[in-house]
Amino acid sequence: MSVPRTFASPEEADFFARVEQIADEELAPRAATGEESASYPAGLVRMLGALGVFRLPFPECRGGAGRSYEFYVQVVERLAAGWLAVAESAHVHVLACHAVSTFASDEVRDALLARMLGGELLGATCMSEPDAGSDLTSVRTRAERQNGQYLVTGTKSWVTHGGFADIYSVYCRTGGPGPGGISCLLVDAGTPGLLPGPPERKMGVRALPTAEVRFDGVRVSDTRMLGRRNRGMLVAASTFDHGRLGISACAVGIAQAALDHACRYARDSPPSDASGFSSQGISFLLADMAAQVAAARALLLSVARMKDQGLAFSAEAAKCKLFTTNVAMRVTTDAVQVLGDTGYRCDQPVERLLREAKLLQIIEGTNQIQRIAIARSL
Ligand SMILES: Cc1cc2nc3c(=O)[nH]c(=O)nc-3n(C[C@H](O)[C@H](O)[C@H](O)COP(=O)(O)OP(=O)(O)OC[C@H]3O[C@@H](n4cnc5c(N)ncnc54)[C@H](O)[C@@H]3O)c2cc1C
Repeated sequence: MSVPRTFASPEEADFFARVEQIADEELAPRAATGEESASYPAGLVRMLGALGVFRLPFPECRGGAGRSYEFYVQVVERLAAGWLAVAESAHVHVLACHAVSTFASDEVRDALLARMLGGELLGATCMSEPDAGSDLTSVRTRAERQNGQYLVTGTKSWVTHGGFADIYSVYCRTGGPGPGGISCLLVDAGTPGLLPGPPERKMGVRALPTAEVRFDGVRVSDTRMLGRRNRGMLVAASTFDHGRLGISACAVGIAQAALDHACRYARDSPPSDASGFSSQGISFLLADMAAQVAAARALLLSVARMKDQGLAFSAEAAKCKLFTTNVAMRVTTDAVQVLGDTGYRCDQPVERLLREAKLLQIIEGTNQIQRIAIARSL
């Protein structure tokens, strides 16, 4: 279904048309087999880098394309409608770029950012630990300072791109307990003692690798710190705010894809009992799905515009993540319902979209954690 959109310039419209073509012709046809084989589509992600997707929301003075977040989230949305694993991989990488662009020293930024924005180097973020998921302030991975270096020891869990990334942003304890003792260090993949485990076996988004990563006495120069010592939670908070918009874009994308599949199915294969009642039952379901997707997209774009205007958008991003991912869960569930038994088959995209929607309610802060953030802001 074509979605009405406005762009700031003809160049943006052209870029978006190319993204649509990639989503429809390169991503969507590969999604089912890619998820079945759980193989990371590195080539497709690199192709997005070469196209300039990662550069979009970064300022031109830092090698970015200087596009608005309003534009960037629409690109992520459209890619997610093709294949979530690829869109989320791009989004996770852009978050890693955001941390380097905003918090690295000039020297480290100059050495890394251009190659990250071009897709030559892939980034990963290591916050979660086996005993620190929602409550990041209980991070136990330690970084001890010794002669201008940090010695990092601990285990990070659920690292997206774990084993595939070139650079890991690692949140570690450099001070006392609580949020004021955490710092963020950039660690290169080849550093001795950095030991990724095998990819987790997941309910969905299997083609995007997620792994435990052990840090066994990993040495990192103290110049590789993002932000200030013991102020890593500021880096985390900024990453979360931007991350919530990226996840919301993914949610709108898969909800739209589920709606499109359901509409096509309802048009081409009407229910066997095609009485007025059953067809109105289906069409009202579709109408509600369409209204929810439109509302989710409108909220996403309004929060992206707040960010573009330099306004505080943290609580709004939490509302957006909560709302859009819940919409994705409802709409994908209803899409399976529209298809009936056919929707339950594994060769139907709606079944995959439903499993993908569940993930979005969990990552980048679960939806319970979003509610806590929203309630605090009230
Ligand atoms: C596929 C995938 C990819 C991921 N990628 C990354 C990554 O790249 N980097 C990374 O660092 N992490 C990543 N994560 C981890 C993710 O961020 C965490 O799973 C998430 O933060 C939740 O933490 P948890 O799973 O430990 O849940 P827990 O914190 O153990 O929470 C369990 C349940 O309790 C609820 N809960 C917890 N605290 C509260 C509270 N105070 N009030 C109300 N309810 C509460 C939660 O909402 C949840 O429902 C990924 C996870 C998955 C599944």
